[in-house]
Amino acid sequence: MTSKPAKPPVRSRCPACGAPSHPDVRPFCSKRCRNQDLLRWLDGSYSVPVVEEPGGADLSPDEDR
Ligand SMILES: [Zn+2]
Repeated sequence: MTSKPAKPPVRSRCPACGAPSHPDVRPFCSKRCRNQDLLRWLDGSYSVPVVEEPGGADLSPDEDR
């Protein structure tokens, strides 16, 4: 007979950190990541990751010389 496990491990990954998801808090790997993702949803910036560049987005004035 085939020796397949009754419950195959879920191969989904945590959308927060990319680690293997945990059955208790899937698809996340931990409650921590779940909370982080939930906060992102509440913040309304889930699908729109804001990437602020450190150093400012000022145009280099030196180029005008
Ligand atoms: Zn995670």
